[in-house]
Amino acid sequence: MSPAARPPRVRRRCCVCGSAVRVVLDLPGLPLTGIYVGPRARRRDTRHDQALGLCARCGHAQLTRALDPRSVYDGTYEHRSSSSALARRGNDALERFIARVAGGRRFKRAVEVGCNDLYLTRRLARRARQVLGVDPIWRHRRPPKTPANIRVSGSYVEDLDAARLCGGRPDLIVSAHTWEHLERPLGALSSLVEDAADGALVVLEVPSFDTLLRDARFDQVFHQHLQYFGLASMLELLKRSGLGYLTHTHNPDYWGGTLLIAALKGVRPRKAPRAPRATPALVRRRYAAFKARMRACMSVVTRQRDGVVYGYGAAQMLPVLAYHMGTDLSELRAVLDDDPARQGRSYPGLRPRIARPEAHRTHLTEATVLVTAPDSARPIARRLSELGARRIVVPLVSW
Ligand SMILES: [Zn+2]
Repeated sequence: MSPAARPPRVRRRCCVCGSAVRVVLDLPGLPLTGIYVGPRARRRDTRHDQALGLCARCGHAQLTRALDPRSVYDGTYEHRSSSSALARRGNDALERFIARVAGGRRFKRAVEVGCNDLYLTRRLARRARQVLGVDPIWRHRRPPKTPANIRVSGSYVEDLDAARLCGGRPDLIVSAHTWEHLERPLGALSSLVEDAADGALVVLEVPSFDTLLRDARFDQVFHQHLQYFGLASMLELLKRSGLGYLTHTHNPDYWGGTLLIAALKGVRPRKAPRAPRATPALVRRRYAAFKARMRACMSVVTRQRDGVVYGYGAAQMLPVLAYHMGTDLSELRAVLDDDPARQGRSYPGLRPRIARPEAHRTHLTEATVLVTAPDSARPIARRLSELGARRIVVPLVSW
């Protein structure tokens, strides 16, 4: 981490509509995520005060403090989980959504913002004459070999000159899992739309704040996601960017639930759907439900008198889950994970080491296992049954 990290920027105006934002959830000392350290790593503090604010006008939720990206991403930005099977399935679902919305339409120039490992970019190249993939992970690295109609840029979306890089105005803009990271989501989308051709199709995917509230998944509020869009605030963002709403859907299988939305430039919107806005009372009620579940989960883990307790799944987000459970996870003998790159490492501020499941196999038949990667609860529960774990605890109500 750079020692010159700038102090957090305080954000009390809604990043979508500019109205005042009210703090609905204080998160003092919230840890950073996605950091794995070796056994001899210097202990370092990754906690930073944070809060979730809510806009009374459009229902948008946002962090009220934007930390310096250099400390938030800590080099992990380049290892975003896009290469995981989960992310690929998410991209497949997005591609099906684009196919449904676009029908037989062929595009001249497509732009994918946040193209990552180019998995979706290559798919888009089949329905566009040219595709520009944009992602700062390619800023200092040479992108992989691609078909001739794909170009890759390491630009940040805020600095992107799409029309120049595409050799003309783009008529398809796609972006998944980028807008929730941006400090100025409205400015970034407006300038992209300004550069786009009339009638351009814009498709965005973001984690859904509506499903976060429905499922009470406050373990998904973390320093890297500055914005929490519900359908209401996303519709507001589209309108203010000069886009006409076309359709939307949810993907329940990815990141607890994502919102996929399509819009057209310069086209009168279809009748917008009913989109209830989140209220402070609703957020507080759902947070109370979440905390009750975390307490229940902890009581199963701490009252074990008959055998050891393990965690399973060394998720990037585990420090936040532990934060809400109010523990450094010293109750766990180890966090088991099948990824060799994570084995032998641990998290700053958490006690257990990450270990190879096979090494503990004989203990599992007597053990209680806490699923510490709740977004992969299904495959983990299957794997644990295979391994013969005696008791499985999932910190979710449904999965
Ligand atoms: Zn607002």
